Parts: sequence; C-alpha cells; structure tokens
Amino acid sequence: MQKWQQNLRLGACAVTVVCMLVGFVSMFNHLRFVFSDPLEDMSHGWLVPVFSLYVLWTQRKEIREEAGNPSVWGLLACLPCVGVSLLGTRGIQVRLEQVGFIGLCMTLPWAFFGRRVAKRFVFPALFLLFTVPMTSYLDAVTIHLRLFASGTAFVLLRGFGINVVQQGTMIVSEGAHPFAVDVAEPCSGLRSIVALMALTAAYAWYTQPTWRRRAALFACSVPLAILGNIVRILSICLVAACANADFALGFYHDYSGYVVFIVAIACMVACGEVISRVCGKRKGATGTTGVPPVAAATSEALPQAGGNGQDARCPSEAAPSPAFSIFHLVLSICLCAIFLFQTQTPNPQIAEPPTVEWPKALAGYAVDDLLYCQDEKCARTFFASQMMGETNCPACKAPLDGRSLGENTILPRDTTILKRVYRSDWDVQFLVSAVISGAGKSSIHRPELCLPAQGFLMSNPTDFEVAADGSESRPYHAIQIDSPQAPTALLVYTFFNQEGVHTASHLRRIFLDTWDRSVHNRIDRWVMVTVHVSALQGFSLDRPRDRAELERFLRRIEEVLP
Ligand SMILES: [Zn+2]
Repeated sequence: MQKWQQNLRLGACAVTVVCMLVGFVSMFNHLRFVFSDPLEDMSHGWLVPVFSLYVLWTQRKEIREEAGNPSVWGLLACLPCVGVSLLGTRGIQVRLEQVGFIGLCMTLPWAFFGRRVAKRFVFPALFLLFTVPMTSYLDAVTIHLRLFASGTAFVLLRGFGINVVQQGTMIVSEGAHPFAVDVAEPCSGLRSIVALMALTAAYAWYTQPTWRRRAALFACSVPLAILGNIVRILSICLVAACANADFALGFYHDYSGYVVFIVAIACMVACGEVISRVCGKRKGATGTTGVPPVAAATSEALPQAGGNGQDARCPSEAAPSPAFSIFHLVLSICLCAIFLFQTQTPNPQIAEPPTVEWPKALAGYAVDDLLYCQDEKCARTFFASQMMGETNCPACKAPLDGRSLGENTILPRDTTILKRVYRSDWDVQFLVSAVISGAGKSSIHRPELCLPAQGFLMSNPTDFEVAADGSESRPYHAIQIDSPQAPTALLVYTFFNQEGVHTASHLRRIFLDTWDRSVHNRIDRWVMVTVHVSALQGFSLDRPRDRAELERFLRRIEEVLP
C-alpha cells in the first residue's frame, strides 16, 4: 500500500472515530452520572477505559505491523452494532448503547485494517463490559449471594458457640453483646465481585499466555470474592459478639472491606501461580498437551510481541489497488453520517399515566389507610383510623407518611404509590398498593427479590385470572408468604400500562417496556398492583373459602382499575 493510501486510510479512520465519539455523547454523559452514583457501586468504571487504552498502547507496534486489507466482513459486522446503538439511543437505554459501542470497538478496526488488527482490539473492547451498570439486573443474583453469605456465617457462628438467629439476610444475637448485622445490598459483595473480576481479567491478560488459562484464572475471581465476603461478615459478627457492636458495625465494618479485598487479590495471584505451574509442568513433561502443535503455537504467541508479524505485512504490501482507498472513503462517510444522525435522535415521549384511585368506601369492607413512621430505627406502621389525625409517631415523634421510609428513599421521585387497606366481614385484611412508574426503570421492584431479604419464605407460586362482569379477565400471580413471626399470608400482583396491556409476568413487562422505548420512542407508564392478603388464622389459596374470598375482592377492585 502506498504512502498516500495509508494516510488516507488513517485519516478516514480518525474522522470516523471522532464522529463515533460524538454520536455516543449522551451515553458518556449518562455513564458519568452512573459512575458517580454511590447506589450503583460503579466507581471502578473510570479506570476501565483507561486500562483498555493502555492495553492498546502496549500493542501499538503489533497493530502497526499487522494492518492488512480492509474487510467487507468487518463492515457487515459493524451494521448490527450500529443498529443496537441506535435503538439504545432512541429509548435512552444506556446498556444497549454500550453493547453497540463495544461491538463497534472490535468491528471498526476489522473493517478498516482487517481481521488481525481486530483481534488485538477484542480484549480491550470486551474489558469495557465492566463499565456496564448491572446493579439493578443483578438483584436476582445478589439476593442469593446475600442469603448464602448470611446463612454460611450463621452456621459458622453457631459452630463457634455464639447464640445467633438468622432472619432473612440478618444475623441477630441477643447474648451478652447484642447486635444485628444485616447483609445489606451494598455489602452483598457485588461491589467487590465486579471490581475483583475486572482486576482478575486485567491480571490474567498479562500473566497468562493463552485464552484458556486466562479464562480459568478469571473464573476463580467469583468464588474468591464470595469467600472474602463471608469471611468479612463472619469477622464483623465475631467482633460484635466478643467486643462491641458499635465498633464492629462502624469502624471495623468500613475498613475490613479493604483488608478482605487485599487478601482476595493475594489469593487471586496465588491461583495464577498454580495455573502457571500446572499448565507449564504438563507441557514440559509430555512435550505436547493434546492440542495440535500449530494451534498451540499460534494461541501461545498471541499476546507476545510480533509473533507472526512478518507474514502479516504481506497482504498490505500486496494490495496497492486504489479500490481500497475508495472503500475506506465510502465506509468512513457512511459511518460518520450514521453517528451524526445518532446525535439527532429525539428523546422518547413520556406517556400520560393511567388514573388509579382506591375507593374510599367499598360495600362489605371496612376501609383504612396506613401511616409509616419515617424514623429508620422505629419504622412502626399505624392505621390512620387509630391515629385520630395525629401526624407524628406516638413512639418516637418522627413524622408519619403514607409511604414507608424505604419507598421514600429508594424509589425515584416521580414514582406514585397509592395504598389502602380493606377488611372483610371474615376479618381478612387486603392491603392494596398501586405503584405507578415514572420516567426511569427503577420504580417497580419484584417482591420476589425484596421479601426474602426480610426473612419471608416465598412458596407455592400460582397464576390465575379474574374477570368482573362485562370486562375481560385480568391475569394475576400469587405467592404464599411464610414467616416465623406471622401466620401464612398471600401476595398477589399484576401489571398494566396506559395502553391497556395486562400481564402478570415481570419478564414480559420488562420486554414490552424496552420494546416501546426503543421502537415506539415512548416511555410507558406501568402500574404494578399488589394485594397483600392476611388473616389472623392465616390465608392460603389451597383453602376453597380463602380462594373464593380473594376472588370476590379482586372482582370488586376490578371495577375501579382501568
Ligand atoms: Zn416512630
């Protein structure tokens, strides 16, 4: 390739990259907020792109040597990535945009410089996956991690002879030094798991010569982080039981995380040593590892400098045709146009929320409202009818509110929550709540994820439909809730949106939400209706009388739901 052609290609590529960065400006802005948000646990996100760039910089010599012909396949591979990022931008769905961006980081070099250069970009691009905010998606995983960590710590503490009780993710002791340690969301080890995974990926990249060995070391990071987390919880409980609960939950809690993280890093380095020795020895002893020698040689040579650099230069020197320059120009112009179009994408319109109002009177039911104490430690709940207009908690004098403290602090401000209590003649209590989502996606949480953390056992999931006279039937999902402190209760929920779409499936709701944001450029207002049913003697769908009672109530509220 002649000098002017090389310069033209470099120029076209540089302009495309600049346009790409401009096209993703909204994504960068959003990520800036996410990385600074303490709730997201993403502060390591700043370092990830720096490391990716560093990896590329250390390979600059190989990249220059391996630059080959432009690839039509690379261009075709760009197209789905561009499509995904456009959908993401349209629906303000940063994760989709990120997936598209990471794909482009691999396919653009492929289109401009050929497959061998693209291979150099695979690891730095995939490493950017550690910038994808996963906190809300990982709830389903973290609840199991939290229960596992607190359960293991509970068993071990009992083994040490410390008298503790486990309530969900909480470990409570009422011994000589009473304490209550809750394995809360931020302590679930998620923060350390993702950070340790990123660190292990970087370490494996530099210390292990093959992808298989890197993957093996990388796989060690998850159990190491979980183990480290259990050790930490256990030590907090031990310090609380033997010394002082305030010291354990304050100073010790805050700083033990760093110690455990350093120990986990040391274990990770040790795992790397073991992998190096085992794999290295086997090769030395037998000469071959079962892998064909050529394949082994090429994969071993991948990260080393200039391994096959010489034959890489052949195709670029053998292709001086001006057609390639035209290819670069056209490719660059098309992609730049798409990226600039991306900046012009309109934000989705927010739909008007459906109106929901729980009736103030319902024939056959006594109606009441709930008031929640806003003090973190007190957190009592009262019936409005017993408060006689009082607006402060009788126990602690903190203000009372129709929403619980958790709902007020965790849910986005544009979330609407409507609650009311109905009590039937049979003394069955129905606590209905409607959560109307705002513009964000974090208004609606699955009860399956929140309740087990509070020590409730959920069982017997059932799907059923209820139809009122003259209206189409509405799907419901019911779960039985058992807890050691209260009789069996039932939780029933369903979703609908302003378009009149009904579903009881959380997954279907998330899919429809994503679809409408990206394809219809519209933010739906979803409503989650939950009915918590309880009675003094317990309430179960297995009993025909209870089931009839529930269906009677659901038919009554069907009349007020849109
Ligand atoms: Zn109170």
